Amino acid sequence: MIDDLPPLRDVIATHDLAAKKSLGQNFLLDLNLTAKIARLAGDLTAADVLEIGPGPGGLTRGLLAEGARKVLAIEKDPRCMPALAEIAAAYPDRLQAINGDALTVNPLEHLSQPIKIAANLPYNVGTELLVRWLTPPEWPPFWESLTLMFQREVAQRIVAAPGSKTYGRLALLAQWRTDAKIVMDLPPEAFSPPPKVNSAVVHLTALPAPRYPADAGTLNKVVAAAFNQRRKMLRSALKSVSPDIEDHLIAAGIKPTERAEQVGLEAFCALARQLHKN
Ligand code: SAM
Repeated sequence: MIDDLPPLRDVIATHDLAAKKSLGQNFLLDLNLTAKIARLAGDLTAADVLEIGPGPGGLTRGLLAEGARKVLAIEKDPRCMPALAEIAAAYPDRLQAINGDALTVNPLEHLSQPIKIAANLPYNVGTELLVRWLTPPEWPPFWESLTLMFQREVAQRIVAAPGSKTYGRLALLAQWRTDAKIVMDLPPEAFSPPPKVNSAVVHLTALPAPRYPADAGTLNKVVAAAFNQRRKMLRSALKSVSPDIEDHLIAAGIKPTERAEQVGLEAFCALARQLHKN
């Protein structure tokens, strides 16, 4: 056992935590597995960890057992708070649990640098949170790394390479300023209740600076327009971005007849620089 607290099945029974679909509740019950996920976040002993959606606290216990300096856990479901209070009592001064919505609570009021984020995310808000963490007003962001559980299909979109079906905005957004890797695959049976899809843990490390220079707003606009019409040639998909788009594509070293899914990050950044200059 990783700690002296009761097994998660007992915690769920004691606190009557029947999983709610509306909150994306699929709980991890195997504490050896949650400790393993915590280890994928790297050395936690000198870091504060932000956890979104701790639920009955399986991953929370993993993070604490792996030595996290402090865990700030934000949970929307008030029913989970007594279970989290028991964990806080077992790890004095190291767990702060807040009952609130991760989309509105400002975690920075409660955390000190360096900060890592680790979560078995509720699928309904996972992508939105990831996009927010990847698009802060300034880079480097407030976090050093993200260790996040997603549906496997979303995980594949984050790490996708040009030419693959899943390559698109999310891949470019993530890979521009982080190193992103799938570090664990999980079958539905790892969760209770089991979801309909496979899951995967993605580890993203913030780069000190973007991989290639580009203005964030321009890059985002170009990539959004290009993938909104991903089957069209770029010279027509990007017409709305600039009337001279064909010249700009050539200047950036991209064939105007190429489609978005064939164009790599470096070329998109070159195009964003070319457009920003004009
Ligand atoms: N971390 C736990 C585990 O691994 O067993 C639970 C994971 S479960 C997939 C997602 C958790 O996020 C649930 O406990 C759910 O109540 C919580 N949640 C859902 N929406 C949320 C939101 N907007 N803000 C904070 N927590 C949320």
